[in-house]
Amino acid sequence: MIRALILGGTADASVLAAEIARTQIDAVYSYGGRTRTPADQPLPTRIGGFGGVSGLADYIRSEAITHVIDATHPFAAEMSHNAVAACAETGTPLIALERPPWTKVPGDNWIEIRDVNAAVAALPDAPANVFLAIGRQHIAPFASKPQHAYTLRFVDPPEAPLPFAADVIVSRGPFTLEGELEMLRGRGIAWIVARNSGGDGARAKIDAARRLSLPVVMISRARLPERPCVESVAEVMEWLGHSTRLGA
Ligand code: NAP
Repeated sequence: MIRALILGGTADASVLAAEIARTQIDAVYSYGGRTRTPADQPLPTRIGGFGGVSGLADYIRSEAITHVIDATHPFAAEMSHNAVAACAETGTPLIALERPPWTKVPGDNWIEIRDVNAAVAALPDAPANVFLAIGRQHIAPFASKPQHAYTLRFVDPPEAPLPFAADVIVSRGPFTLEGELEMLRGRGIAWIVARNSGGDGARAKIDAARRLSLPVVMISRARLPERPCVESVAEVMEWLGHSTRLGA
């Protein structure tokens, strides 16, 4: 009997949950608890950290988990490391569903850097309108360049004061090319800071930046642990022993 644990929080994880719900596979969906009202899933759902590697290993044992699917965001490196370690400790098969990073196409003006501090350094010294398309837990270093007018976009309104003055858009998306063009033009955005998440959901802003010839300070992915990886939900379903109707 399979009992799968989906480490989720992404659009791909939701597609996977929907596909698993159409089968007889017993599965639990896990959210990290970053958003106040996470999307409903068609599977039993738990929310919040496990308590590091040992907490996840305990959970795997107590819930009799037989398969773990890491479908977290490609920048959720800590969760991915913990999953590798806990699965090794408990002898549980693990697979990662990882969308490939975006690659530059003609017309893109990317400054590719390795982390948030390098992104701050890559911004100009002269005041500019900057769209910070990164999670709120990563914005603090931009306080060291207070000359810029920052626009931020979050799923939930901020609960605590921000580390610097900024315009906040509250939206869960999905974001379209037309919508992103309107937002960037309307706010006179001159620079975008983004993480190379890959996938379609967050891509519209990158396509809009190309249309408007805007520079994008693109933060590359951190190194994730060695683990079996696939790029599609269909491959995860095969791994679980089920074929799928999706062309995903
Ligand atoms: P992280 O830095 O790798 O994780 C920090 C800690 O949060 C983990 O050690 C774990 O706590 C807990 N955690 C993370 N994901 C979890 C999950 N799915 N289930 C249970 N606990 C989880 O991750 P992060 O960057 O903060 O991201 C947190 C979550 O938000 C991830 O699930 C990620 O997929 C999602 N996310 C989604 C998007 C998006 O665009 N959809 C963007 C960013 C993040 P313990 O050590 O206590 O177990």
